[in-house]
This record gives sequence, structure tokens and C-alpha cells, in this order.
Amino acid sequence: MHDLVIRGGTLVDGSGSPRQQGDLAIDGDRITAVGGVAGAGRREVDARGLVVAPGWVDIHTHYDGQATWDPYVTPSSWHGVTTAVMGNCGVGFAPVRPDRHAWLIGLMEGVEDIPGTALAEGIRWSWEAFPEYLDALDAMPRAMDLGAQVPHGAVRAYVMGERGAKNAPATADDIAEMASIVREGLAAGALGFTTSRTLLHRAIDGEPVPGTFAATDELLGIGRVLGELGRGVLELASDLMPEEPELAWMEQVSAATGRPITFALLQNDVDPGQWRRLLDATDQAAARGAHLVPQVAARPTSLLLGLQGTLHPFVGHATYRALADLPLAERVRRLQDPETKRRMLAERVAFSSPVLAYLATAFHKIFPLGDPPDYEPPAEASIAALARRRGVTAEEVAYDTLLERAGHQMLYLPFLNYSGFDFEAIREMLLHPRTVIGLADGGAHCGVICDASTPTFLLTHWARDRRRGERLGLEQLVRRQTRDTAALYGLHDRGVLAPGMKADVNVIDLDALALAAPEMVFDLPARGRRLVQRASGYRMTIVSGSVVAEKGSATGALPGRLVRGPQRAPRV
Ligand SMILES: [Zn+2]
Repeated sequence: MHDLVIRGGTLVDGSGSPRQQGDLAIDGDRITAVGGVAGAGRREVDARGLVVAPGWVDIHTHYDGQATWDPYVTPSSWHGVTTAVMGNCGVGFAPVRPDRHAWLIGLMEGVEDIPGTALAEGIRWSWEAFPEYLDALDAMPRAMDLGAQVPHGAVRAYVMGERGAKNAPATADDIAEMASIVREGLAAGALGFTTSRTLLHRAIDGEPVPGTFAATDELLGIGRVLGELGRGVLELASDLMPEEPELAWMEQVSAATGRPITFALLQNDVDPGQWRRLLDATDQAAARGAHLVPQVAARPTSLLLGLQGTLHPFVGHATYRALADLPLAERVRRLQDPETKRRMLAERVAFSSPVLAYLATAFHKIFPLGDPPDYEPPAEASIAALARRRGVTAEEVAYDTLLERAGHQMLYLPFLNYSGFDFEAIREMLLHPRTVIGLADGGAHCGVICDASTPTFLLTHWARDRRRGERLGLEQLVRRQTRDTAALYGLHDRGVLAPGMKADVNVIDLDALALAAPEMVFDLPARGRRLVQRASGYRMTIVSGSVVAEKGSATGALPGRLVRGPQRAPRV
């Protein structure tokens, strides 16, 4: 008698093999039979007409703080994620000296737009060293497995104090000390080391993340630890401008250590062909023995502009600022007043930064997101195009759009991966054999970005709904978000439905699978706000053999654990 039998489903097993009809049996926390007809189960689930797939492994999240207070790790758990890797992009909460808690919160708030008040109220700080942070995570049961990485920003500030925080060059002693902290973290179970090399990532005081300008000797000195232990991934976000020196150190560190380096790869409008050169460069680097893994997104990195969010085209207008603190319903009522609208649209505004000015007024690239949300709209659907057709200004169309759906409508600004106004570049990136899917940023950018739904979007858009170009095969998409992501991080015990593998499983009604429009909720500690997006169509999510969610509701089961280090494939 099996513990659980999922009967008669369409098994998409994560290996990329063609789907097959059959049963899946689970005993304890392991899968024990896949395909064919399994014996009886203590519990049986009728999965006829449903897809049965491995749980999603999302390698790019920022739940480092939230994971210490929220056992459900939402919104990722709503999207079938059963393992999330956090600590990306050089930011996290350990190691930390007792007098630097507020500073680390400011770093996370600045880089990842997670409300500092929520972090300050939510985090209990029962640790100083990285292994103590892992112990704190380990002591807390949750609805999914989590993996942590050692963040350069925290390590640098811990070792070098103000010099580190202010990005002064590291001495040989600093590097040795940082390396020893990373060694200790990896030995205790960290899955990697992460760093930030983009000027877009800044602490709340405006200083780029500690380590942004780290020289090759620092990166090599720390990277060698990964090589020495034979484990761990080096993850980074870089502007890659210029790209040559960045590629050069990545290749050098990967070749010297034998460890994979994964870097964010996105198409930008300034140099819309760069991504292709970078893919070619990783092929060439591979031929020379370096393992560079471009981390790609399943849709554009987009800002969502809304009345409840951080940014929209009118945040700088005096007339708006006078209303900004009113409750949403009241604000909408006031904004509907024709006189308020007339005054607002007549105001000329200076934005605090040119980036902000561009982002908030790039109307040729701003679209009504709608409900259900459309993430691949044609150029003719932009606010600017709508305005031309209606014979009014783009500002006016934006204004009216923001008031739709009682002020809940959002404007969609795909600022990366959308230079061609379609997903063809993304499609090529997803198909490239060296890339890995990531960048969903679960837990982060709470006021303006919401891409934690990426695993669901792969199925709804790429496998089923895409109209403006070719779709991708379901088997391939599932493999990309399960076996491939797990394998990069050495988690060979999951990501495939096979006997002996960890029983992390999604049962999905693919016909009914749908994404809701993103919404702003105020459920972080201290009533902090965050954008979330819900999904329907997940019938069941199973972690380590326990059903953690059924028909969209958490069951209360918390079998998730901290994953310490790489995991061996089962011997069957
Ligand atoms: Zn990130």
C-alpha cells in the first residue's frame, strides 16, 4: 500500500521526455513509482485530464527576510514552487554585526524595494555568522524547501566595515577573511556566493552594493573557495557595460575554480543585440573550459505602474502629491474630478532623476496591463498609440487608465527584454542550451515588479496561449523550471519524477491554469505593501510527500526544510 497515488495523470516528468499517461506513487518523502498502474494508495487522487509534473525549482528569489517570518513563502508557493533559492545579487542578512542590522535592512530596501519597516519588524536577528542564520532558517518549518547563498554585500561590510560598505578596494587580508567567511557558509550548507555589479542596485543611501566594483583578485580570492570545496554557484547581476572586462573575470574565475557562474542576461534598449553577443561569448568561454550560465527571464522585466505602487506618471505632480496619502477609493474619487484632471495634465513636472523621468513617461512602451494581464502586447496597444488614435495626449490616456478598475488598473512597462515589442528575443534565450531560467525575484521589488509568477507564466503563455509567435513545448518548459534549475545548484535529488527522487510534485489543470492581475496587498509586517499575483489551476502541490496546497489553499502542512548543500541523485 502506497502512501499516496496520483492516478491516471499526464506525466510530464521534468526530463524533457514526451508526456505519458500513468500513475505516480509516493511513499514517505520519496517517489516510488512512475508510469503504468500503481498499486493501491492510502490516499488516491484522480488526475485524469491533469498534468503531473515535478515541483518548480526557482533559483532566483529574495526571501531572505520574509523566510524568517512567513512559513508559506508567498507568492511563490501559490505558483507551485517547491524549492526556492535566495540570497541572490549580493544582498542578504548574514553575516551581520549586532550594530549593523539597520544598515543591512537599508541595503535590502534600496536594492530590492522591500519595505524597511517590514524587515525591521519581521526579522528577529538570532544570528551573527552565516551558519547561525542557516540554523535559524533550519529551525523553522515551512511550505517549501529553501536554499541560501552567501551575499557579498553583507560579507564585505562585515569584514571591512565602512571601507567595505563604501566600496573601497579590498586588501589581501580583507580578501582572505572574506574567503574564510564564505568557506564557513558553504561548509554549513550555503548553495553559492552572490554579488552585484550593477549601478541599478544601490543601498537606501545611494551607495552601490558593497562589492559592485570588486577587482578580479577579490572575486578570484573568494571564488577559489568554491573550487576548493568543489561546490556552489557564483551568481551575479551585472550591467555588463562594457561587457569585455566582465566576461574576462567571469571566465577566469570559472576556469580557475571549475565552478559555474550564472549572470543575469536581459535585452536592453540601448544595445538590443548585446544578449546575442553574450550568448556567443558563453559558447566560446565553454570551449575554453569556463562554465558561464546566462540566467534568463520568461518575460520582460517590467515595472508595474499603479496608484498604489512606487511609481506612475503622476507621482511627481504637485496636484497628485497633495492627494497621495488619501485612501485609494477617496483618491480615485478626487482624481475623477474633471477640474483635478485638468490641473494635473497642465502641470509640468521635473522628475528627481532622468531614469525616473524616462520610466514614468516612456508612453510608447507603456501599456494597460489589463485583467487578465497581457504581457506581450503589440506596439499599437501602447498608451502613446492609443493617444494618437484618440487624438488626445498620452498623459491623458495614462491618467484615465490608472483610474480604471476602481484605481486598481496597472500600466505595464516592459523595460528589458522588449526592444522588438514581442517575445522573440526571449524565445531564443529560453531555447539556448546554456541558459537557465531565473530572475523572477520572488519576495523583492514589492512596489513595482511582480514576476514571481514566472513558473505559471511558462505554462500559460509559452505552452498554451501565445499568439504572436511560436510557443514552446510543455515537456521542455517543465524541464527548464525543474531539472535544469535544480541541476545548476547541484540538487540532483529533485526536479524529475523518477523512483527515489524527492516527492515534490504539482498536479495542474492546464486548461484552467490562469494568472490573476497583479494586486497590491498590505500584509507584510508593519502593514508593509507588496505586489502579489495569484494563480488558479494548481490542483495540488506536494513537498516531500506532504500535500502543502490543494485547489489553491494551503493545507497547513509544513514539510519544507532548509537545503544544506548539493544533494546526490538517488541510487535506485
Ligand atoms: Zn535579484
